[in-house]
Amino acid sequence: MSEGSLLDHALVRLDEAAKHLTVDADVIEKLKFARETTKARLMIRMDDGSRKSFLAWRCRYDDTRGPTKGGIRFHPESTADEVEMLAFWMTFKCAVMNLPYGGGKGAVQVDPRKLSKAELERLSRAYIQAFASIIGPDRDIPAPDVYTNSMIMGWMADEYSQIVGQASPAVITGKPLALGGSLGRGDATARGGYYLVRHLADELGLKGNLRIAVQGFGNAGQHIARLLAADGHTIVAVSDSEGAVQAANGLDLGRLLAAKDNGRSVTSTAGEGGHELLDGNALVGVDCDILVPSALENMIRIDNADIVKARIVLELANGPVTSEADEVLEKKGIVVLPDILANAGGVTVSYFEWVQNRQGYYWPIEEIHDRLRIIMEREGRAIWDVAKAKDVSVRTAAYVHALARLAEAIEAHGTQNYFAS
Ligand code: NAD
Repeated sequence: MSEGSLLDHALVRLDEAAKHLTVDADVIEKLKFARETTKARLMIRMDDGSRKSFLAWRCRYDDTRGPTKGGIRFHPESTADEVEMLAFWMTFKCAVMNLPYGGGKGAVQVDPRKLSKAELERLSRAYIQAFASIIGPDRDIPAPDVYTNSMIMGWMADEYSQIVGQASPAVITGKPLALGGSLGRGDATARGGYYLVRHLADELGLKGNLRIAVQGFGNAGQHIARLLAADGHTIVAVSDSEGAVQAANGLDLGRLLAAKDNGRSVTSTAGEGGHELLDGNALVGVDCDILVPSALENMIRIDNADIVKARIVLELANGPVTSEADEVLEKKGIVVLPDILANAGGVTVSYFEWVQNRQGYYWPIEEIHDRLRIIMEREGRAIWDVAKAKDVSVRTAAYVHALARLAEAIEAHGTQNYFAS
């Protein structure tokens, strides 16, 4: 990647979207910078009696449309720059879905696999002690992200409730069901992407039995494979961090899920049920209709974009396609359904959790699915129409769609013209 911060790279999307709209200069000035990024050093007692400290951040990128929302990542390579880029993406993702939120994100620079369970609980609670005055159900609402999970969200919600002296489940989403979590959060990200593809199938030229390749077989990857296979589509290849397997006539999903449940890689199924081993890097070049990146950022780059054979790329991961690779895919006529739309089912059901917490009334699973489907179809359709009307990629259309909403909210406080005249 060329010089510049991660946020600078993300801001290219803002510039691109701004070319297709007439927005007040105030809007760009406001969205170019994070509103506030707070840094803290979390000091915890380790099991051996020593004290250790970890750098942590919470960024509230923009809160014009409502309290900021975004996950907390525990990762040894997290940086303030990365947190701001992820918070910028959240700002646009929430606007894409018309959720009443701005964008935020948090991180602790730590390898959680090196901590004991008790150390992890102390670190999670220390995060909330450090940032309790910044977060809140009407201010900033965290959620899980890379290497954080529902149990950690439960500890964090409990710590916050103790600090403010009252039960406050709406401060954090992604909690365990028993602590105010929502039904349907588990597969929400994949389900949102699934509803989107199903709804736009005709426009995308997707008919009959489809061949699907899934990169990354964790939460998002497993659920999308399950949902698409249940509709009769064929999963031809899947990968995880150890490699990939393929089967031209379709992989045995039950076998793959059982391997993951038992802590084994998908590659351990090679040689069984027609599964053949495949180099993990070759997965993006598998012959298929839909390629679903569900692993990490920057997986489809300038050096491998050319081998993609899929007609559609469904970005369940955040930022899996670099901007240089985007251009290559576009030239090849491949339609990319971008992350800020395709994986927004996760934050949408997080929003449902927050609403249910505040109502103290919990919805059945059918209601969650229906509401998610309606929002995905409504926003997916609107973005598709923008892409056609302006003759731009679906990614640019998603940014234009979100920027229009952000601009409307920012401009409602008064524009340069209003104050200068
Ligand atoms: P996860 O940790 O459950 O799964 C990640 C998977 O990717 C694992 O199977 C891992 O082995 C695999 N992987 C890692 N490196 C790989 C590599 N080099 N090649 C192939 N596979 C590799 O994570 P998840 O929750 O499924 O999230 C996956 C992506 O989706 C991330 O980018 C995340 O930010 C994004 N996302 C997830 C959610 C959600 O609700 N889970 C919501 C929005 C976005």
